[in-house]
Amino acid sequence: MAAVAEESSTFVLKDFLKSFMLWEIAKGMILTGRYAFRRKVTLEYPEEHTPLSPRFRGLHALRRYDNGEERCIACKLCEAICPALAITIESIQREDGTRRTTRYDIDLTKCIFCGFCEESCPTDSIVETHILEYHGEKRGDLYFTKEMLLAVGDRYEPEIAAARAADAKYR
Ligand code: SF4
Ligand code: SF4
Repeated sequence: MAAVAEESSTFVLKDFLKSFMLWEIAKGMILTGRYAFRRKVTLEYPEEHTPLSPRFRGLHALRRYDNGEERCIACKLCEAICPALAITIESIQREDGTRRTTRYDIDLTKCIFCGFCEESCPTDSIVETHILEYHGEKRGDLYFTKEMLLAVGDRYEPEIAAARAADAKYR
């Protein structure tokens, strides 16, 4: 019993001396000093960005061939595989026998950005781009129609093509 009391009074004395010498603050300052001159890993977003993988799955886009023809052949594989049922497609057969979509909508409020749609696409038509900074102020703003998806594709085609090329050897 006496030994326990002696041990506890030693701890109390130690704690008192440590707090008297501001030991915790000194420890904190040593730690701060250790990291103060190291290379910074924090970025000043949104002015600075971290590098993105070519496989990054951001905003969707529909692509065209160089001659302006839509790549999508309305096979509906993307619609069938989408686990969130976010894609809605309607199509017609053209006079030359080819099929094209008359409607291609993605509800981004349902999408879970799994990438299955782009993996399933036989023509590299539907893709997920590197674009991550977009928003909607009401629910309908995130309902992307075919025209909107094609517009994203038209605008960012060079970046999309570069990302596909960078990833091609791993596919
Ligand atoms: S990324 Fe996944 S959830 Fe989103 S539309 Fe494509 S398949 Fe559907
Ligand atoms: S985007 Fe691709 S997978 Fe989807 S319907 Fe068009 S061709 Fe088929």
